[in-house]
Amino acid sequence: MSLLDIHVLGSPILRQETQRVDTIDAGLRKLVDDMFDTMHAAKGVGLAAPQVGRRERLAVVDADDTRLVVINPEIVHFEGRVKGEEGCLSIPEIYADVERHARVIVRAQDIDGKWYEVEGSDLLGRCLQHEIDHLHGRLFTDRLSLLKRRTAMKEWEEEKLNYPKLLRVLPVGDLPPERDAASAG
Ligand code: ZN
Repeated sequence: MSLLDIHVLGSPILRQETQRVDTIDAGLRKLVDDMFDTMHAAKGVGLAAPQVGRRERLAVVDADDTRLVVINPEIVHFEGRVKGEEGCLSIPEIYADVERHARVIVRAQDIDGKWYEVEGSDLLGRCLQHEIDHLHGRLFTDRLSLLKRRTAMKEWEEEKLNYPKLLRVLPVGDLPPERDAASAG
């Protein structure tokens, strides 16, 4: 298990379009495992590949008791609008209300390449939309009104000083405990 460094706002990869995943191999499985560990260590509910410096179109999610890998995800249905507070592991300490679809159905591939659909509202729905945005170079701050975005960016200008290399290195002390054999599987 290893923790990955998280790219923070200003790192160019967060603004790049991802590339469709065609092959799921051992390297990709390791990436997904490391992304789960990194997300949990950072106490996040979702993490997209560009946030750890990768171009693969995939994200991991652990919200509302649902743990998912979404590979090549797409929103295939949405309805309603709802506002709720969001933050982002790539924009630490900045939070703002963001308007999203109230309910979405997302189609994606799992770690075995099998297509599935997941329905999300509340935190899971918001999280799926936030992560899919990441896969297309969009951040939650892009969805704020001009005024709110200015306020958020002003706060970020100060916070950003903590990340001179635009990388967030998680302290090793935040490693979650190793699962023992009895609870594994
Ligand atoms: Zn994010």
